[in-house]
Amino acid sequence: MIALVTGGAHGIGAALVRRLVGRGDDVVVADIDPDGEGGSLFVRTDVRSYEDNERLVAAAVERFGHLDVAVFNAGAAGPRSFSVSGYRDAMRVNLDAVVYGLAACSGVLSGSALVMASIAGLTGSPDVYYGTAKHAQIGLVRSISQTAPGYRINALCPGLVDTRALAAYRSELVAAGLALASPDEVAAAAETVLGDRRTGQVWSVQAGRPVELVPRI
Ligand code: NAD
Repeated sequence: MIALVTGGAHGIGAALVRRLVGRGDDVVVADIDPDGEGGSLFVRTDVRSYEDNERLVAAAVERFGHLDVAVFNAGAAGPRSFSVSGYRDAMRVNLDAVVYGLAACSGVLSGSALVMASIAGLTGSPDVYYGTAKHAQIGLVRSISQTAPGYRINALCPGLVDTRALAAYRSELVAAGLALASPDEVAAAAETVLGDRRTGQVWSVQAGRPVELVPRI
C-alpha cells in the first residue's frame, strides 16, 4: 500500500511510519523538520500551508500514482495563550492542516484516512484552543464521512503519549501518577483503525488497541 503520514519525523508519526514500513507499505513522510527519515519519500512540508499540501500530494502521485492511506498526524499543543494569535496558531496547525491535506488528497486517496485527534477533543483542555481544534477535527471527520468522499475516515483520540510534545511536563505527569502511552502503542492502534471497514468513527487507545469511543448516532 501507499501511505502518507504527516508529522512523520518524530513521536507518534515516526512510530507509525516504522510500523507501516515494517508491513511493506511505501510511506511518504511529510514534516516541517527535515529530519524525517524512514519512509520511501520525504517531502518537507509545512502542513499549515495549502500550497505545501498540494506539493506534497503531487510529489506522492508523481512517485506512486495514488494513495491508499493518509494519516493527518502533525499537530501541536500550546502556547497556552488565551489570545487571538494563540487561537490562530492552534487552528492553523491542528485544523487548517487537516482541511488542506484532505482537499489536496481529493481524488487521489481511495482507501482510509485517519486524523490524529486527542482525548482533548472530547474532554476539552486548559490549553483552550488546542482542545477547541481537536473537537473541530472530530467534527470534520464525522461530517466528511457523511459525504461519500471515496475513502473511509476516522479519528483516533490518544490520551497522554510519551513524546517530546509532553517533555516539559513529563516529570510532573509521572509524579501525579498519570500513565503515558508509548508512541508505538498509538501507532499499533492507528494501524488497526486504518484497516477497519467503518467510517466516521471516533476511537480511543487502550493498551495498543483502538476502542470505539463514541458510537455513531
Ligand atoms: P511530536 O511533537 O513528537 O511530533 C509532531 C510532529 O509533527 C513532529 O515531527 C513535528 O515536526 C511535526 N510538525 C509540527 N508542526 C508541523 C507543521 N506545521 N508542518 C509539518 N509538520 C509539523 O508530537 P506527538 O505527540 O507525536 O503528536 C502527534 C499528534 O498526536 C498531534 O496531532 C498531537 O496533537 C496528537 N496527540 C498527542 C498526544 C501526546 O500526549 N503526545 C496526545 C493526544 C494526541
